[in-house]
Amino acid sequence: MNKLFLYNTLGRKKQEFKPIKKGQVGLYTCGPTVYNYAHLGNLRAYLFEDILKRVLIYNGYKVRHVMNITDVGHLTGDRDMGEDKLEIGAKREHKTAWQIAEFYTQEFKKDIKKLNILEPEVWCKATDYIKEQIDLIKILETKGYTYKTTDGLYYDTAKFKDYAKLSRQNLAALKEGARVEKNEEKKNPTDFALWKFSTPLTPLIRGVKIAKRQMEWDSPWGVGFPGWHIECSAMSLAILKSQLDIHCGGIDHINVHHTNEIAQSQAATGKKFFNFWLHGAFLNIAGGKKMAKSEENFLTLENALIKKSIDPLAFRFAALGTHYRKTMEYSEETILNAEKGLKHLYNQIRELGIRNHELGIRNVNENFKNKFLSVVNDDLNTPQALAVAQEVLKSKLSGKEKLATILDFDRVLGLNIKEELQNIDLPENIQAIIKTREKARQENNFQESDKLRQEIEKQGYRVEDTKSGQRVSKK
Ligand code: AMP
Ligand code: ZN
Repeated sequence: MNKLFLYNTLGRKKQEFKPIKKGQVGLYTCGPTVYNYAHLGNLRAYLFEDILKRVLIYNGYKVRHVMNITDVGHLTGDRDMGEDKLEIGAKREHKTAWQIAEFYTQEFKKDIKKLNILEPEVWCKATDYIKEQIDLIKILETKGYTYKTTDGLYYDTAKFKDYAKLSRQNLAALKEGARVEKNEEKKNPTDFALWKFSTPLTPLIRGVKIAKRQMEWDSPWGVGFPGWHIECSAMSLAILKSQLDIHCGGIDHINVHHTNEIAQSQAATGKKFFNFWLHGAFLNIAGGKKMAKSEENFLTLENALIKKSIDPLAFRFAALGTHYRKTMEYSEETILNAEKGLKHLYNQIRELGIRNHELGIRNVNENFKNKFLSVVNDDLNTPQALAVAQEVLKSKLSGKEKLATILDFDRVLGLNIKEELQNIDLPENIQAIIKTREKARQENNFQESDKLRQEIEKQGYRVEDTKSGQRVSKK
């Protein structure tokens, strides 16, 4: 039995993973704030979570993965200051906040599909769970954890003993540093809004002119909207119930978002909120700066790869090449090298000259499989996993064994190797048209895609568009 070890931020060490219920895992990953396109940094986070999910499945677990869509309440300042990002997006694009949320949610779903990221079992939107959020806040209020200010209902972090358990922050130093902060009404700098009022009670005293919000709901405390942190607590508790195994996000979530989720959930339920907390390191752009949506200089999958005719999976390959807890530096060169690496891998596979249907499960080499399992089970060591794949390809195994073993590894790597093989027997000119058509499909250029389909059919082949790409066979 190969044990799975994961680095748990909660204990700052690798720990053996054991689920709450035998054979099943409840996984909650903080999803996108849908006011703009996802950038490569965001996508790196979702790739790490996808590898985690695939490794759990590879280990035989049945995974129930929940991903939320933050479509309300995420303010520009982490400490409940600033504007709602969705309302900013709406102003920027002269659309409603609802339209912005819907548009960028769909764009996000397209991106993760291009990266071969498995869809979560459950998608949930914050605006669909307003009642659950209000109910949770009511419990916190009854238990005495809340207080009201002119702009909202706040959580009193001083009342929660283990507040700094995840973040290990020095709260006294934070308090000292926060004396100059603006929100004087907060009792402690770490306190956070559970519910914000659409219009603060004394806007004129503060001299601020408040524009009417588009997204607001009635609540026992006044018309307003939920804070960002309460959504993840309310949705994970409502959907996963007691199956709170693993919760993930980027490292920027440790100090505020996840710390606050734990504080409010544990205060409300009296029970531990998630056993494992995993965090992915940043993708930085030149000069060591974190890629961020707010910087507006971020790179999307579309701009950095697809527009340059680079297979989006090259980004997946690049991400696999850096351990998820190490910072990844973005450069064009990194992507071009990854593209080369991916193409090389595909060529190595093609050169084996074996077709998919010739393989059986018995062809998987057990020694290499165990080696692969032990590296991915060592806190998702994907750089090592790629190295084991190369070892297989360079080994003395038969072509069939090599291919079957690599296809088995691809259940974790997710590099679409099987799909690459589908076209192996086709003449080169047809393969070239398929490639061009794939690009047109990814760009939603339906006219071009239809034209190329007719071209393929004219030459005696049938095209079937599947979830994982085009399947082409002789008529
Ligand atoms: P957001 O859409 O801003 O709520 O972020 C979505 C996810 O991306 C979160 O898990 C963040 O922690 C993560 N994230 C944001 N910026 C980066 C970055 N530059 N590198 C890696 N992950 C990031
Ligand atoms: Zn979250």
